[in-house]
Amino acid sequence: MEAKNKLRMTKQRQVILEELRMVKTHPTADDMYQMLRKRMPKISLGTVYRNLEILSESGIIQKLDVGGTQKRFDGDTTIHSHVRCVACGRVGDIDVKPNCNLEAEAQKMTDYEIIRHRLEFAGLCPLCQQKRKATA
Ligand SMILES: [Zn+2]
Ligand SMILES: [Zn+2]
Repeated sequence: MEAKNKLRMTKQRQVILEELRMVKTHPTADDMYQMLRKRMPKISLGTVYRNLEILSESGIIQKLDVGGTQKRFDGDTTIHSHVRCVACGRVGDIDVKPNCNLEAEAQKMTDYEIIRHRLEFAGLCPLCQQKRKATA
């Protein structure tokens, strides 16, 4: 995805972007805040939140729509799908591309002009699978 407009890269934004790109965990703003405090002890949750919103609006990072109560962010803006653990809410990547045939199929059934669709998988993460085995 191309950045829509030139965004001024402040030091804070740069660090937020670096930290987000380092992980594959799709952190929430709260998670990011915990990660960033180690490098920037004076940063506030509000600042982290605001900058994540600005970065995602500019297309530099991705805001995830996956189910769950808190918004999650992804430093990887390439097209890929996500799987969410139904037990702990953890979100992982799956390299499945959206299916063009599916959009053509949907187009036949609606007057809406179809632009895109989203694939979300639900499952049980490896950790929760282990927990389930341990308690079984
Ligand atoms: Zn889990
Ligand atoms: Zn992802």
